Amino acid sequence: MQTENAAPKPLTPAIRKMTARRRLLAAARRFRELTSIGSALASTSHPYMAQIVPMRRCNLACTYCNEYDDSSKPVPIDEMLRRIDHLGRLGTAVITISGGEPTLHPELDDIIRRIRKTGAIAGMITNGYFLMPDRIERLNKAGLDHMQISIDNVMPDEVSKKSLKVLDKKLQFLAEHADFHVNINSVVGGGTASPEDALIVSKRALELGFSSTIGIIHDGSGQLKPLGERERKVWDEVRSLTRRSYSRFNHFQEAIANGLPNDWRCRAGSRYLYVCENGLVHYCSQQRGFPGVPIAEYTRADVKREFLTEKSCAPNCTISCVHQVSYIDHWRAPQTSQVTPPGANHEQPELVQIR
Ligand code: SF4
Ligand code: SF4
Repeated sequence: MQTENAAPKPLTPAIRKMTARRRLLAAARRFRELTSIGSALASTSHPYMAQIVPMRRCNLACTYCNEYDDSSKPVPIDEMLRRIDHLGRLGTAVITISGGEPTLHPELDDIIRRIRKTGAIAGMITNGYFLMPDRIERLNKAGLDHMQISIDNVMPDEVSKKSLKVLDKKLQFLAEHADFHVNINSVVGGGTASPEDALIVSKRALELGFSSTIGIIHDGSGQLKPLGERERKVWDEVRSLTRRSYSRFNHFQEAIANGLPNDWRCRAGSRYLYVCENGLVHYCSQQRGFPGVPIAEYTRADVKREFLTEKSCAPNCTISCVHQVSYIDHWRAPQTSQVTPPGANHEQPELVQIR
């Protein structure tokens, strides 16, 4: 078991300086975010966030993950740019690059530039392994707005090598060089050996001047499992450290931690799109296959239909990014049809009209 004593030492003091330039960039970013939320509140006809995969290959092999392989090639840049342009035409406000490991894509900077060119906010989820000062500076230049790194433990183990010991130097590079916002996500659940590691990771993130969140590792179908006693204690402690990050979504997260279902309307396929390496739109990373339409053929009519489609997997879902996006429309009209997505068992979805 890893304990607080096992943290990499010595930890350097906070080194992220909020220079005038960084303050200005942060203010401009905030303004763009508020504008995007305003336009999402005004109209339901466009996606708010899309997650797009430029590379399914990953340099790691976390045992809980079903979103990677060790051999696939990068999506050709022309095809990536076409997909991004189409997301732009649909009016997508935030486009987040994920994987696999997106920093393995040889034309990553062009992808980020194109996202910004559509007017969208550019995000990236990475395991952080390839972050060096010059790589970070190039991400600055390309216009990256947000980066998220998920750190699963303090010391690498057989479940995950996304470890504070391995990544702490990368975090220091980020603190020194990144002009974009950095969030460090710690995790509990899913077979992580020491839940207490999440607290160490979160404290380190805050010490370096980043924001910090905590997530629950979901099972292969994206569905809920209640937290054990130790996990729950860590969850509460991390949330008390990072209270502001959670204020809006507290009730979702609380129910998940308690293993209770949530009453919410999943707007996947509408406000949130997951575009896989093959260019198909899926509800989310855990519900691949539906609607399964190529992004080039995805229309506003699809966005509208899915907005009104209730997903039967919603009550026990733990996918917080979709929760958060769907929260924008929490107050809006009920959904009028229902679908049972294929999930992990790859059964065909069943679409049922309910109103
Ligand atoms: S680093 Fe991310 S994409 Fe790669 S195996 Fe781990 S969780 Fe999956
Ligand atoms: S509720 Fe939505 S986000 Fe959650 S697993 Fe189902 S389709 Fe995916």
